[in-house]
Amino acid sequence: MNTPYLEIDLAKVFSNTQKLVKMFGDRNIDITGITKVALGEPKIANCLIAAGITSIGDSRISNIKRMHQAGVKAAFTLIRTPSMTEIYDVVKYADVSFNSELSIIAELSDAAIKQNKIRDIVLMVEMGDLREGILEQDLNQAIEKVIPLKGVNLIGLATNLACFSGVKPSKAKMDQLSRLAEECEKEFSIKFRIVSGGNSANFNWLFENTDLGRINNVRLGESIFIGRETLSRKHIKGLYLNAITLVAGVIESKVKPSLPDGEVGQDSFGNTTTFVDKGNIVRTILAIGKQDVHISGLTPLSDVDIIGSSSDHLILDTTRSPLHTGEQVRFSLDYAALLSCMTSPFVGNSYI
Ligand SMILES: *Cc1c(COP(=O)(O)O)cnc(C)c1O
Repeated sequence: MNTPYLEIDLAKVFSNTQKLVKMFGDRNIDITGITKVALGEPKIANCLIAAGITSIGDSRISNIKRMHQAGVKAAFTLIRTPSMTEIYDVVKYADVSFNSELSIIAELSDAAIKQNKIRDIVLMVEMGDLREGILEQDLNQAIEKVIPLKGVNLIGLATNLACFSGVKPSKAKMDQLSRLAEECEKEFSIKFRIVSGGNSANFNWLFENTDLGRINNVRLGESIFIGRETLSRKHIKGLYLNAITLVAGVIESKVKPSLPDGEVGQDSFGNTTTFVDKGNIVRTILAIGKQDVHISGLTPLSDVDIIGSSSDHLILDTTRSPLHTGEQVRFSLDYAALLSCMTSPFVGNSYI
């Protein structure tokens, strides 16, 4: 296998998924498995499904199309509110879409009627994180306009917290979402099938409370692939942290000084760096850089330190355990690092 590559251990992804399905299932919460970090890779989607997930969500309609065309059998939810230019594909490939704009919902309805379909929609409610969502006070008015649309069927409410502003999905926020769901149901004599409370940040809420109200779904990505909840990035007991690791190759390894020689200005990214004089050290260069991976999200799985990086080079201090050209170094990744590697055309994937 050419380096660099991601080593994706499907048995570990499977195990993480199965454990989460059980943990949440025991509390009557369904999981929508979020595949966006894996670009909708069908092997990964099928792994989640084999582990007990029946609904797959992705932020990109192209990823959903990819899974659909690969024959992945699941209910697909588009979790990013659709743009005007993807309406046709949303109706064609997604079973459910999350929505926050009436103009888009009206287009979805028209397109669905043209395709002889009725598409399920979920309304996103803005509850403080200030990304997408209808303001609470505008919700009734929105539902009033959605109900008469013949091509769409309103099946529930969802909210997204702890993403843009880091607002916690507290008990108060979740109770408020439950209350909103009940008020809307009463006002319009409808019954919601789904009340989706959040993402991998909802872990503490789930295990610190017994009354989960009307919440019956969460959308999980990071906890499945990384094994952590996302409010404080705590390890979820029983889950693998290293289901996916990065492998990069050594292209130079030499004893060199730890301090640069010469007058120092800005580096290639416009930063001015200060270095500590540790005398001579073993400096090892890996053939991977900022163009491939969000470097700060890497943790070496051997006894080496990251000194820094440029576009195409990652420089390590390997004095404690020297490495030779041709050897490989392995890293665990955070979500940002995983996302960047998955989207780099220079980083391969190897499945075990
Ligand atoms: C990405 C995303 C998720 C999944 O978040 P994780 O932190 O990976 O669990 C859930 N909902 C929405 C709307 C998202 O965009």
